[in-house]
Amino acid sequence: MTSALFDTALEAARAFHGSVPALAEFAPWPDDLRWAGRVANMVPGAELMQRDPGAANDLTRPLQDAFRALAPHIEWRLTYTEDEVGRDFLNRFGWFELAGPEGHFLSDQVRLTVGYWGRDLYYPWHQHGPEELYSVVSGGALFELHGGSPRALGPGDTRLHPPNSPHAMTTTDEPILTFVMWRGEGLDEPPRMSPS
Ligand code: ZN
Repeated sequence: MTSALFDTALEAARAFHGSVPALAEFAPWPDDLRWAGRVANMVPGAELMQRDPGAANDLTRPLQDAFRALAPHIEWRLTYTEDEVGRDFLNRFGWFELAGPEGHFLSDQVRLTVGYWGRDLYYPWHQHGPEELYSVVSGGALFELHGGSPRALGPGDTRLHPPNSPHAMTTTDEPILTFVMWRGEGLDEPPRMSPS
């Protein structure tokens, strides 16, 4: 049953949140979660994520396993246009909202999303009002933040993006699977490309 797979993924995410201090300190686990029953929407990147999720570690493997099992049942989104990111990006990328204002589980307290990018992709500079904490489930990438030093992140690592701060990400020889928390006002707003 599909909702049982989502319950398993949610429980794995809750355990991961509880075991990574930066995540637990960023925002408490929401206590207002309601099952929303969204319809699956597959994208090419979802199949790639199942096949090539990148290397996990002992801490992150349960979450990676849960997301791979969930992949065919997820309401995947692409959000960006071909003009903004290119066709190759859209073919090897996908994200979904596990919990939040428009999530598989509804919450008004926080937004929990999962994003996947294939190898050798450039996620251009973008920004948003809510504060964001990225965590890496598997694989890795180079994270760039306006006014900060670029940092290569791997499984279990986290990176904070302050409100309205432009940031970018590049994958090289491995893909990346991420678990992302948002907090603050405007949890239902999409990111926008930063002015160049
Ligand atoms: Zn962001």
